[in-house]
Amino acid sequence: MNWEPVIGLEVHVQLLTSSKIFSGASTAFGADANIQACAVDIALPGVLPVMNEQAARMAVKFGLAVDAKINRRSVFARKNYFYPDLPKGYQISQYELPIVGEGQLTIDTDDGEKTIGITRAHLEEDAGKSLHEDFHGMTGIDLNRAGTPLIEIVSEPDMRSATEAVAYLKKLHTLVRYLGICDGNMQEGSFRCDANVSVRPVGQQELGTRTELKNINSFRFIERAIEYEIERQIDVLEDGGTVVQETRLYDPDKGETRPMRTKEEAHDYRYFPDPDLPPLELDDAFIEATRQTLPELPDAKHKRFMTQYALSREDAAQLTVSKELADYFEAAAGATKGDAKTVANWIAGDLSGYLNKENKEITESPVGAQQLALLIDRIHDNTISGKIAKEVFEVMWHGEGNPDDIIDNQGLKQITDTGAIETIIDEVLARSAPQIEQYKSGQTKVFGYFVGQVMKATKGKANPQQVNQILKRKLDA
Ligand code: ADP
Ligand code: MG
Repeated sequence: MNWEPVIGLEVHVQLLTSSKIFSGASTAFGADANIQACAVDIALPGVLPVMNEQAARMAVKFGLAVDAKINRRSVFARKNYFYPDLPKGYQISQYELPIVGEGQLTIDTDDGEKTIGITRAHLEEDAGKSLHEDFHGMTGIDLNRAGTPLIEIVSEPDMRSATEAVAYLKKLHTLVRYLGICDGNMQEGSFRCDANVSVRPVGQQELGTRTELKNINSFRFIERAIEYEIERQIDVLEDGGTVVQETRLYDPDKGETRPMRTKEEAHDYRYFPDPDLPPLELDDAFIEATRQTLPELPDAKHKRFMTQYALSREDAAQLTVSKELADYFEAAAGATKGDAKTVANWIAGDLSGYLNKENKEITESPVGAQQLALLIDRIHDNTISGKIAKEVFEVMWHGEGNPDDIIDNQGLKQITDTGAIETIIDEVLARSAPQIEQYKSGQTKVFGYFVGQVMKATKGKANPQQVNQILKRKLDA
């Protein structure tokens, strides 16, 4: 039988507010345990939560960016469960009336664009953290994270492969960083994903029974976990079994998922509206003012890069993956006399290579956009060849000056003097009788040999176009 996978994602996005959603405690990551948890966060008796306006603004910003319905009135609810890192015994979340309603996000697939439905996005508070590593036979509790604002973004079950799920996640990841509402740091848990996976026979309308894969913290693991789970469910069904609705954990070491709790063990959260918080009422002025703060969104920037800079779809997609990278590209493309495509190639090629190798962000690049533009200018005006430029780039990367000084100091200027090139070519030809014979007998592939010899003699500095031209003229004479 042919099976169709069905995937829906729930993504928790930590909002970049400086204080918590219902208290004034700091949300900064990495502080000593429990020093950023105030009376509200640790649920001392008598305290009252006060909604952080900035968190509402960020949720609305997200809603507007995915073309969603913004609910003028949303309600906070208590989601009750017991866990050591949840001091109140309930999490404040939104249930029946979330702040953001239905929206959508477009992803690129092998078959073109596809729109994924967003069911809702609601505001909630994060829980604390249980620490297992430093506590032998015990569990430590760090409540610094308790009360950090989140939006949980719930998708429709619209994805049909692990690849589509990852494309959706990456798109979301790019978007929240463009919006400046989340730092996107997956290691630190700022952007977390639960994946709901089921399979059904191709052609069947009804959805199959799903499992939920919990908190997987990298794109690669998410892809693997979903792929594994799809195969596992198909195996179960083909063996005549049934898929059990349950929560499963992905084990990255073993590359498999295993049961965590079944539906029967699932919590009854006993949701009810939180009596301590009034409904969140938003007026048009608040929403319109928030709309004014939207930056150019990734899709719009992608389209603009294709038209304004004549870039391919793929190039434009790569360059707009983060706002910082896009800004770097635009600064370099605007400053150089070379063309935008060359700038794109340098960014995707050498620059990305060095950044990856040293695990640096584009904002940490030792070679700034203006410097890269200068280097490309020197290729453009034939001072150096593209090949020599790679050497110059390496020197620039190590912080040893601007392209012009490096070219001067190291004597890298391209040889464009026709007379000089001709002399060298004559020398090469004089000692290459057998190769000339080969060439004349029709083995024109040997042409590369002559070019190579000339380049070797000039340490790569001869202008390649001129070398080719003069060689051709002499050999074909
Ligand atoms: P819950 O209340 O248990 O969290 P929801 O109805 O809110 O369940 O769905 C949670 C997520 O699971 C959503 O992203 C939804 O698209 C996805 N989902 C629901 N049913 C299925 C299914 N049969 N297969 C795959 N994903 C599903
Ligand atoms: Mg849910």
